[in-house]
Amino acid sequence: MRTVRDVKALRGVVAGWKAAGQSVGVVPTMGALHPGHLSLVSAARAGTDRVIATIFVNPMQFNNPEDLAKYPRTEERDAGMLAAAGVDLLFMPPPEVVYPEGFATSVRVSGLSAELEGMFRPGHFDGVATVVTKLFLMTAADRAFFGEKDWQQLQIVRRLARDLNIPVAITGCPTLREADGLAMSSRNTRLSAADRATAPALHRAMSAAGTVIRNGAPVAEALTRARQEVQRAGFGEVEYLELRGAEGLEPLQMLDRPARILAAAWLGGVRLIDNIDVTR
Ligand code: AMP
Repeated sequence: MRTVRDVKALRGVVAGWKAAGQSVGVVPTMGALHPGHLSLVSAARAGTDRVIATIFVNPMQFNNPEDLAKYPRTEERDAGMLAAAGVDLLFMPPPEVVYPEGFATSVRVSGLSAELEGMFRPGHFDGVATVVTKLFLMTAADRAFFGEKDWQQLQIVRRLARDLNIPVAITGCPTLREADGLAMSSRNTRLSAADRATAPALHRAMSAAGTVIRNGAPVAEALTRARQEVQRAGFGEVEYLELRGAEGLEPLQMLDRPARILAAAWLGGVRLIDNIDVTR
């Protein structure tokens, strides 16, 4: 695996692959890798000839400076994991390569970005949309692989690629979970042992709500009960726990189309998000 930190070197490698007729996949990450990230690499390896992974902790998508400062950084370990997983090229740019002096452009997917995460993390998705657009243009990848773990992000990425005619096919990959149901996340390492034991209550409550909603229970009641269960288990604020249309993320009062339950909740100073399919 080769590691490059600047755009010229990146483009040089990719141009060589494309000249040889090889397809290119990209897996964007912020590092602090876990098996969830590696499942995206596997999907990319299965779907394209060459695989680029990117590691960039994007300052533009952190609305909370403390969260940015505390974000785990494990570069060497990450590089070893990616090499072992069969990544061909690791693109790991410093912030000034992505946002040079005078950088003034941003990409906003209106509507979708204002919902859910957007309500609680203002500007977050503008940062995501901008950096993802840049990564698509810098890598010129034919395909890009994103986790369903960040469902709203996946919908936003699909929309921006379509809206801006970026010739990249977006593939969503299933959420990898720990044995107890907790969605794998780089942030899980910040949970205390006691909070780690509490954490699966979020997915458990969402799954229970999903089951009763599928069986015809009133949506609002099922969601209220789930929020209460999460708090009773020991979580702090439940920012949202809602049933939404799977693509447009519109609020749903009944299960009349493909749907997800999406949630964000605080546990011991760590903000956890999750989502599940609730299509009948
Ligand atoms: P991040 O490093 O958190 O920005 O995540 C990089 C990519 O990995 C995103 O597309 C995430 O949706 C995906 N991802 C994160 N956690 C998981 C997981 N548990 N299962 C599958 N994909 C994941």
